Amino acid sequence: MAPDSSAPLVVGAGPVGLTMANELARHGVRCRIIDHAAERSQTSRALAIFPRTLEAFETMGLADSFVALGLRLHGLSLHHGQEEVAQIDLTSVASPFPFALGLPQSETERLLGENLSSLGIQVERGVELTGLTQTSDAVRAILREQVRPHAEEIATHLSRQLREVSDDFLRREGKPETSDQ
Ligand SMILES: Cc1cc2nc3c(=O)[nH]c(=O)nc-3n(C[C@H](O)[C@H](O)[C@H](O)COP(=O)(O)OP(=O)(O)OC[C@H]3O[C@@H](n4cnc5c(N)ncnc54)[C@H](O)[C@@H]3O)c2cc1C
Repeated sequence: MAPDSSAPLVVGAGPVGLTMANELARHGVRCRIIDHAAERSQTSRALAIFPRTLEAFETMGLADSFVALGLRLHGLSLHHGQEEVAQIDLTSVASPFPFALGLPQSETERLLGENLSSLGIQVERGVELTGLTQTSDAVRAILREQVRPHAEEIATHLSRQLREVSDDFLRREGKPETSDQ
């Protein structure tokens, strides 16, 4: 099926892009998500998920899957050489998740990617954003597929749907809506 070139475009399937795509889907906006890497990263990198992020995952219905897989870290101890310079106690954090969760970034990306797939959205891999121009109501993106490096697709991704979602959110928060200017 040809990609929907008028859907919001998410560039990058790291934790940030995957979370954005999941949240858009949860709010009824079907996006397109691309990543120039051919495969999902397998490295640990961001190793700790903090309470507020777990709370955000809870609203997405994902906290249980994360907590089941990770290691609860109840505190942190910072050292300079042999000397302990600070201790951070996480057990008193006012949160349903009073701990940091030790989990490799590759697993975070896997869980977010699987949830996105269950919502019917697949990451398009081997597709790179090489340029973009922005007007008041649209972003024109130039995408290059690695399998066809000389073929450039110009996709116009309307920002209107995104604005509707953010206006709806602001209305519920009792804040002024965005303007068209
Ligand atoms: C070696 C290393 C160790 C780290 N250790 C820690 C740690 O211990 N704790 C911690 O909290 N954080 C750590 N980090 C940082 C953590 O990895 C980042 O904060 C996190 O990855 C940011 O997520 P992101 O989704 O914004 O970006 P990324 O994870 O970098 O994801 C961006 C994605 O966008 C894709 N992309 C980029 N440009 C394009 C393009 N033009 N077109 C298409 N796709 C594109 C990339 O392929 C990538 O998949 C570490 C980072 C590195 C490199």
